[in-house]
Amino acid sequence: MTDKLTWIDEELQNLHDGGLYNNIRTLGSPQGAWLVVDGVKTLNFCSNNYLGLANHPRVVAAAQKAMQQYGVGPGAVRTIAGTMDMHVKLDQRLAEFKGVESAITFQSGFTANTGTIPALVGKEDAIFSDRLNHASIIDGCRLSSAKIIAYEHCDVEHLEAQLKEHRANFRRALVVTDGVFSMDGDVAPLDKIYAVSKNYDAILMVDDAHGEGVLGRGGRGIVDHFDLHGKVDVEVGTMSKAFGVMGGVVAGNPKVVEWLHQRGRPFLFSSAMTIPDVAACIEAIDMLEESTELVDKLWANTDYFKSEMSNLGFDTGAGVTPITPVMLGEAPLAQQFSQKLFEAGVFGMALGFPTVPRGKARIRVMISAAHEKDDLDQGLEAFAKVGRKLSVISS
Ligand SMILES: *Cc1c(COP(=O)(O)O)cnc(C)c1O
Repeated sequence: MTDKLTWIDEELQNLHDGGLYNNIRTLGSPQGAWLVVDGVKTLNFCSNNYLGLANHPRVVAAAQKAMQQYGVGPGAVRTIAGTMDMHVKLDQRLAEFKGVESAITFQSGFTANTGTIPALVGKEDAIFSDRLNHASIIDGCRLSSAKIIAYEHCDVEHLEAQLKEHRANFRRALVVTDGVFSMDGDVAPLDKIYAVSKNYDAILMVDDAHGEGVLGRGGRGIVDHFDLHGKVDVEVGTMSKAFGVMGGVVAGNPKVVEWLHQRGRPFLFSSAMTIPDVAACIEAIDMLEESTELVDKLWANTDYFKSEMSNLGFDTGAGVTPITPVMLGEAPLAQQFSQKLFEAGVFGMALGFPTVPRGKARIRVMISAAHEKDDLDQGLEAFAKVGRKLSVISS
């Protein structure tokens, strides 16, 4: 009899052969500009810790204080006995920060998406979804049983054509898009998407995971960036990126938030956020409201790094956010580049097919306010050295 799990060995071998196996590196240090990765000190160009809050003394202290007072675990789901006053406070603080009437938190951005979409649409409905949307949006769409109609990436004309052709055949319509796309760092044209969605009576949902703490006034996100307050029905966010913690949020129309209290399955069937996470998130919001210093530094670092990289002759794509793709072409070159960077003390992740299209392999550099100018200069020097060695740029 054959082992019923032999297929796993075969599949894993396929991943190895295709250069697609995830080699998971281990950190022996907190998040920050520098990390100890697999025992080696390296400059960090890989984390989503945009504002350096993941190990900020104020955020850590807030988590410690809350643990002394409330313990660690929530002990239940939000709808049974897991809603502590701190959870309510976080929901309110997030709503204030985003400039909306109400907000509801989930355990993660992933569960916010998989919980929200099936609560809003079902099998009589259609979802119009950007082709490059995040995996958690795709899973949420599938869980809903609604008809999924993809439109070309950030292509508002194609979205409109799809709505025109299909909208009338369905009860409800949901238009959903990432705010900032994580592979290229480009920003969805949300103002135009709003205008089209409105014409076709579609619910509008944006996932602002990479825009929160980055775009808009003081990091208030993509809705603020486009001045669309009150116009976007569902604004999903995560506290795991710029906020430096963990947790998801849905902000927006109070009716939607109220409905998710009743029908958002991860809210009803998975325990509440932990106490230290909640306290840390509240502290992160306080810090963002007190000062724009970190957000300003993030953007100054981003502008400096991008312009120096293009001076060196690298192609960093068309994105405008701190996500900086260094375009290299073929996947083996990107992997080799990443390895050589690592040897030069820089941790930069290589991304290839199927994460990005074939022939568009890259190193994705994530800029942070945790970086000092010296750090960025060291990173630039390593890129220049490896780039010349591998003939990506001329010497
Ligand atoms: C990272 C990310 C998520 C998941 O957020 P978590 O809080 O880490 O679960 C969801 N959507 C987008 C667009 C993301 O980039």
